[in-house]
Amino acid sequence: MQQQPDMMDKLVSLCKRRGIIFQSSEIYGGLAATWDYGPIGAEIKKNLKEAWWRSNVYERDDIEGIEAAILMHPMTWMASGHVSSFEDTLADCKSCKKRFKVENVTGKKCPECGGELTEARQFNLMLKTHLGPIEDEGSLTYLRPETAQGIFVNFQNVVNSMRRKIPFGIAQIGKSFRNEITTRSFTFRSREFEQMEIEYFVKPGTDDEWYHKWVEERFVWYARFGIRKENLRKRQHEKKELAHYAKACTDIEYNFPFGWSELEGIANRTDFDLKQHSRLCGKELDYFDEATKERFIPYVIEPSGGIDRAILAFLFDAYREEEVKGEKRVSLALHKALAPLKAAVLPLLRNRPDLVELAKNIANGLRKGFKVMYDDTASIGRLYRRQDEIGTPYCITVDVDSLSDRKVTVRDRDSMKQDRISVDTVKAYLVDKFKD
Ligand code: ATP
Repeated sequence: MQQQPDMMDKLVSLCKRRGIIFQSSEIYGGLAATWDYGPIGAEIKKNLKEAWWRSNVYERDDIEGIEAAILMHPMTWMASGHVSSFEDTLADCKSCKKRFKVENVTGKKCPECGGELTEARQFNLMLKTHLGPIEDEGSLTYLRPETAQGIFVNFQNVVNSMRRKIPFGIAQIGKSFRNEITTRSFTFRSREFEQMEIEYFVKPGTDDEWYHKWVEERFVWYARFGIRKENLRKRQHEKKELAHYAKACTDIEYNFPFGWSELEGIANRTDFDLKQHSRLCGKELDYFDEATKERFIPYVIEPSGGIDRAILAFLFDAYREEEVKGEKRVSLALHKALAPLKAAVLPLLRNRPDLVELAKNIANGLRKGFKVMYDDTASIGRLYRRQDEIGTPYCITVDVDSLSDRKVTVRDRDSMKQDRISVDTVKAYLVDKFKD
């Protein structure tokens, strides 16, 4: 499926108009590459995290979830290699002063104005901060650039407290920070973003098999929650592309309007991280296999995805434009699990107190089980359009007849088909529609 070239502008505008994503600190002119999720976007984000957590932590019996602190001991980043090598090589244009990643420039000229570039230099992507009142070397630490290390340093805590046997995994969702240089493409490359990561610990020698299993598992997950298969592909890294810790890596890519780009990477991190931490902290971080009486440092398969990138892909993929009765209809065909509101209750006439009361009662009756909205601020045509644009699967319309026949009309977002159902069965109707 070919993405339309102006899709990015359309989506950015929809996100702002409908409360999905705003520029951070917009009233001050914005802060580059940071974004705020509005009331609708925050729901989508919460649903996406829930979908990931459910699939990995609840539907499987071999993964535990944790939530580690963003701030970690600075030795963590020495061990992981981030202090020495989490870098981009940059050059500045002497004329227009813009800064570029050298890997994105061909030749020695500025790709924007043709000016001369400075010598390339290394730039560490970690954001620094100081803990405590004195800003010296001793108080320096970093905002984590990945959530993975919070898992590695807790490996033994989880094995011991949960009596886990290998193979098993630890999952975590949380914020990460990178002082990214090129930050185009909306939320795709942000300086503050969220990751969903699993470190899956296996016996050395079984790592290749687990690596392939996880590539498949993660690929089908995106399709399960609604991304069209033709917009997803796998791309295996060549040897020279591999990170210093990786034996193999496959990216799951999405066909964004700006080209195929990484959604998630699945890497075989070998025993690199546990070995490094063991070396720097001076404690053994190995595993004792009761069955074989062997002691070894596990290998690790890491599926590492970005929440914000995933949301962007789900939004692009769900975006629909069609003509209905001579008018343009924009809708988000989001998977029901991701839809920010599950239903909207709309009275056909807002100047009829009895009708408004019935509609409000129906909405209130649904609130304990579902995120719903009551809206009477426009004509029914406009109300439908608003709900379509944020992907609300069901609109429940209350009309004058509802007062006498105690029935309402439920309109399906995608087919626009309408069902007339009894007021007393609305809740059961939604429960049925949202069952797995
Ligand atoms: P890229 O090559 O695009 O910079 P990466 O290979 O450095 O990404 P990883 O370190 O593998 O990314 O991070 C795992 C996941 O975290 C990525 O697949 C992506 O979804 C997400 N991610 C990484 N950096 C960012 C960012 N700056 N903004 C949003 N998401 C990000």
